[in-house]
Amino acid sequence: MSFDSLGLSKPILQAVSNQGYSKPSPIQEKAIPAILQGRDVMAAAQTGTGKTAGFTLPILEKLSQGQRAGSNQVRALILTPTRELAAQVGENVKTYGKHLALRSEVVFGGVKINPQMRRLLGGIDILVATPGRLLDLYQQNAVKFDRLEVLVLDEADRMLDMGFINDIRKILKVLPENRQNLMFSATFSAEIKLLANNIVNNPIEISVSPQNSTAKKVKQWLHPVDKKQKPALLAHLIVEHDWKQVLIFSRTKHGANKVARYLESHGINAAAIHGNKSQGARTRVLAEFKAGKIRALVATDIAARGLDIEQLPQVVNLDLPQVAADYVHRIGRTGRAGASGQAISLVSADEIKLLEDIEYLIQKHIEREYVSGFEPSHELPASRAIRPLKPKKPKKNKKFADDNASQGSGSNQSKIAAKTKQQRKPHQKSQKQRPLAQGSETTKKTSQKPKQKKAKLNNPAKETFIWERKVKKVKK
Ligand code: AMP
Repeated sequence: MSFDSLGLSKPILQAVSNQGYSKPSPIQEKAIPAILQGRDVMAAAQTGTGKTAGFTLPILEKLSQGQRAGSNQVRALILTPTRELAAQVGENVKTYGKHLALRSEVVFGGVKINPQMRRLLGGIDILVATPGRLLDLYQQNAVKFDRLEVLVLDEADRMLDMGFINDIRKILKVLPENRQNLMFSATFSAEIKLLANNIVNNPIEISVSPQNSTAKKVKQWLHPVDKKQKPALLAHLIVEHDWKQVLIFSRTKHGANKVARYLESHGINAAAIHGNKSQGARTRVLAEFKAGKIRALVATDIAARGLDIEQLPQVVNLDLPQVAADYVHRIGRTGRAGASGQAISLVSADEIKLLEDIEYLIQKHIEREYVSGFEPSHELPASRAIRPLKPKKPKKNKKFADDNASQGSGSNQSKIAAKTKQQRKPHQKSQKQRPLAQGSETTKKTSQKPKQKKAKLNNPAKETFIWERKVKKVKK
């Protein structure tokens, strides 16, 4: 099948051909005609499948035919869980829409709100936004939804894992009922389906890869190693294999900084990217990495969401993620859009439980390979046999009936997220909700230092107030 047969007009086909895409990806083949017909869509598609063009191209096509947005109006709203993904999607919208007279904007937290308000004044055809900042803008009357035609929820599973369910429900309440809805998610848990029931109407369901499977063209294996030896093994691998561009995942911000410093001290050009860095610094580091000036980029999970670096060949998990689904997201950074890639995990004995969770999710054992000189003194135990995946039973959805229910109390969160939450103290949960909207990390450290985080937000007074109120509530 070619792009020409999908019903897209010349200016869009021109932009697609400028990108060098020869044929639509499977998700694009299915999603584009459905969206052009005005159908709601629920798509299970990982990052790297071409899903962004899958929804952006038909949206551009549809909007190019209607009346332009009036002041403060928005005609298509794309919600993403993180700033990086918002910026990435925004870039795609601009690229694919460059021959059209449509206006698009990206808004997210962590940067000044006033310039965003000014840019929204003249009306925006396609707005890409993170939920928290969008609500702030709405509350300040900077954005109107009376003419909204299309809503996209991108990476919906991630939105739930990050505790955005309340923000999403608030947003849904202020949108016109009559609109087209498109939901994209790497995984489709029972909780996502429940959310979908409240958003999409009679959707076309699209699935382009088996549920929770890791990207097909990615070769993955692990090196058993002692924890304290991980930075040295990483440096050894980078030099030994002469990796020119490697994305490294660290569970914590502190760990990311530490390993970036270690690599630097061993002559490897490296930088860290995480929620404690200003948006400007994150954008700069990413640009340098993409341009090949930085060889090793060490990122936390949230900061790495949405990173789209063409043909990134190498991903390393310095530590395994707490949430098994993050493994799938992490390794989706490589082997993108048909390119092949490698994902290597450095696994110490204490991570056996996390490894077993991942192997259960992806339904296979990850091959182990020992590196000479780095054999662990604490042996990584053998993983247990893979049990078949259990279908999850949908839980009763009280939350949609009760809008004042406290955020993230469990019923709408994925089982995996719930599992992570069990490891937190109860009061830490509420502190985390707001900062996460600004794109920060789910590390224990973050939640223990909420005030430090607030100082970086746009409206510290308001944010601190919300946080203090929540803490008081818990203390009672
Ligand atoms: P995603 O994050 O799933 O939207 O995938 C993005 C990657 O796939 C980007 O690097 C796109 O430039 C690339 N891509 C999207 N559509 C195509 C296509 N039809 N052919 C080749 N690459 C594509």
